Amino acid sequence: MKIIIGKKAGFCEGIKIAIEKAEQTIEKNDEEIIYCLGDLVHNPVIMKSLYQEGLRVINNLSEIENPNNKTVIIRAHGVIKQVYEQAKDLGINLVDLTCPNVLVIHKLVEEYAQKGYYILVMGERQHAETIGTASFCGKNYKIIEEEQQLKNIINYINSKKIEKIFIIAQTTFNLDKFNKFVNTIQNEVNAEIIVKNTICNATRTRQEETIELSKKVNYMIIIGGRKSSNTNKLYDISCNNCKNVIMIEDAQELTKEHIEEIINSDIVGIMAGASTPQKSIEEVKAKLEKAVVNIS
Ligand code: SF4
Repeated sequence: MKIIIGKKAGFCEGIKIAIEKAEQTIEKNDEEIIYCLGDLVHNPVIMKSLYQEGLRVINNLSEIENPNNKTVIIRAHGVIKQVYEQAKDLGINLVDLTCPNVLVIHKLVEEYAQKGYYILVMGERQHAETIGTASFCGKNYKIIEEEQQLKNIINYINSKKIEKIFIIAQTTFNLDKFNKFVNTIQNEVNAEIIVKNTICNATRTRQEETIELSKKVNYMIIIGGRKSSNTNKLYDISCNNCKNVIMIEDAQELTKEHIEEIINSDIVGIMAGASTPQKSIEEVKAKLEKAVVNIS
């Protein structure tokens, strides 16, 4: 059994910086509780470790007792616009760790909304990043997640005679899907259309490598948090190219049955999401290698 680990597996720059800065913030303020609005990153291994260091996750600023002068970290995916105003009113110190790629999207949609463009956000409706982005779009926007929604949205735009459209993507959106949706809209909508492909570079190159890797292996292991949008996409992409694909959060989730199947494969590929620590990748590899040694 040969194991190939994707070169792009694991932390992207945005996540790396967010974790480092969160740790520095906790360390600097070791007397007080540091809060984070939502999970800093969508990885349970990292979140457990930050919890042990003292970070407390909240879902709403109103959960903080006596909020004045308290410190709240904003997660890498960003938050809704109103949080900044609410924090100011409550006297909360915000440590904004929103990834710069996400901040660019917030600025762009705000700018184009002010210029009178109707905004189309290609992204997962329930994902924190998309919800945050939508809050910067004003009133005239729609989120497109699946192909089935396109027809209704195109009919809506044409019937309302919307003249200017601005299209943007969630940073972790599937590149093929984005190109396909944009193409359909450009062909069927009679309006001026500006497109900004805001899928981040780290996501794009990771997806490209996953396509290549999953084509040449017999078994593909995707490591990452179940809530992680980019990890789920890696799983979907791999399923298109490889018959045997599993998604796990860490080595502990590798069952005896998985291991039996995996070690009987010639080539095994490992890819990991943007918030998966190197340690989780190494532990999976070590567990497989140990199983091979035990069997021979
Ligand atoms: S995946 Fe891209 S947008 Fe998301 S945190 Fe990483 S670099 Fe930033």
